[in-house]
Amino acid sequence: MIIHLISNNFAYEMQKLSMAFFPDRKVSVDPPEEAGETQFVTVASREVDGRPVLSAEFRDEAENLHAFAEETVAEGDDPELAAGRVLYRVLSEVTGLRPKWGILTGVRPSKVMTKHIADKGEEAAKRYFTENLFVDPKKAELAAVVSKAEQAIMSTTTEDSISLYIGIPFCSSRCTYCSFVSESIASPRAKKLYPAYFEKLLEEVKVTGAIAKETGRTLRTIYVGGGTPSTLTADQTLALLTTVRESFSLKDCSELTFEAGRADSITEEKLHVMLEGGADRISINPQTMTDSILEAVGRNHTVQDVYDVYETARKVGFSNINMDLIAGLPGDDPQNFERSLREILGLDPESITVHTLAYKRSSSLLPTKELFAKGRETSEMVDTAGELLFEAGYAPYYMYRQTRSVGNLENVGWSKPGCESAYNVFMMEECQDIFACGAGAVTKMLVPGTTDIIRVFNYKYPYEYVDRFDTLLQNKQKVRDFYGK
Ligand code: SF4
Repeated sequence: MIIHLISNNFAYEMQKLSMAFFPDRKVSVDPPEEAGETQFVTVASREVDGRPVLSAEFRDEAENLHAFAEETVAEGDDPELAAGRVLYRVLSEVTGLRPKWGILTGVRPSKVMTKHIADKGEEAAKRYFTENLFVDPKKAELAAVVSKAEQAIMSTTTEDSISLYIGIPFCSSRCTYCSFVSESIASPRAKKLYPAYFEKLLEEVKVTGAIAKETGRTLRTIYVGGGTPSTLTADQTLALLTTVRESFSLKDCSELTFEAGRADSITEEKLHVMLEGGADRISINPQTMTDSILEAVGRNHTVQDVYDVYETARKVGFSNINMDLIAGLPGDDPQNFERSLREILGLDPESITVHTLAYKRSSSLLPTKELFAKGRETSEMVDTAGELLFEAGYAPYYMYRQTRSVGNLENVGWSKPGCESAYNVFMMEECQDIFACGAGAVTKMLVPGTTDIIRVFNYKYPYEYVDRFDTLLQNKQKVRDFYGK
């Protein structure tokens, strides 16, 4: 589909909004008309009696379809939002779809809600979401609940607080839907690379710890993520957690999450080492409790493995376990998804994160029309998850959205009271400096008194990380510079 934009500057937003209606299509902004292309949207802006008027016109030449909407921008209103609304109206008319997040295309709807609650109060903010942004009332309510939970956690951070992220970009096998730079440990290249990567990673943790001390930072939370950190051997896990303890002061650190992740990488010995090394929260991520789907998406473990590992983790002594579930996986349906969720609820983990499947260019799962046609079913799954989790005593405490998710839906972290991961909130709301180690990791530092963030990027691929490690360490000087050291 081609979008023509005439006299307005909202190309990126218009493109993202159009993708919510046509996720399986290439949506191009203002290219020369392409051969074979039959669908066009024109978003235009003009002045009538001194006021801007935004219009959207859709035409499908093959199907002989046409739709038109326009809106005069009210005093004090944002023309970009008016452009979004007219586009939403014409695309809703021709597709019959009403994406539940309305014209909101950003990653952090709860952050937008927080701003509006601060400006006008909760009820008016929710009304603004539904009336001005066309957000479904239940989603507006969800954003408001998450906003309040996030505020409570964010209020615990101070200006000198940091969190530490450590990335292990290796997995037991590659999931078909994965877009992350993660190598399967089964590949000869990863086998060769992993020891060298690990050695450099320990060095980076030490250097980062030294920077934290020199710059007077207080470490609040630690997240060991990936990839799959539990692909480390027990000895490596011990070495990593020992290095963290020796490099940082953990006096004020209230949380250390070790994303064990894949059941096929977790052993009792590793769990003991994680616990003794200070991890107080782990993730065991089934994604679905259906063997055939696990196999189809390339996860080398069974549902029974999930049960076994979970039982072992409890026996070892973990009292805060998160489990991830994905709505919209190929081969799943609402009834089966509900069964998966009920099985997970039967295990009684402290938190459950419900993701919606999102398609990425770098994943091997192809964004077919058939899979995106499951938007309504996926929405049903997400709604059911919300109802069952509420009933079971969980509350949503952080959320984010991804482009090209099935049904244009959200990912939500649900937790029992007091078991929330503060790191997830600090990271998602970008309200605290994050020191990051490992390939692809990004250190983020907030510029006081502004909404600006200074980012220091590590090399993305593990081989680059290893080969250019000296340059990467030199680059960390930017962190010292930021704090004036
Ligand atoms: S476990 Fe996670 S990071 Fe690893 S391949 Fe699967 S989706 Fe990607």
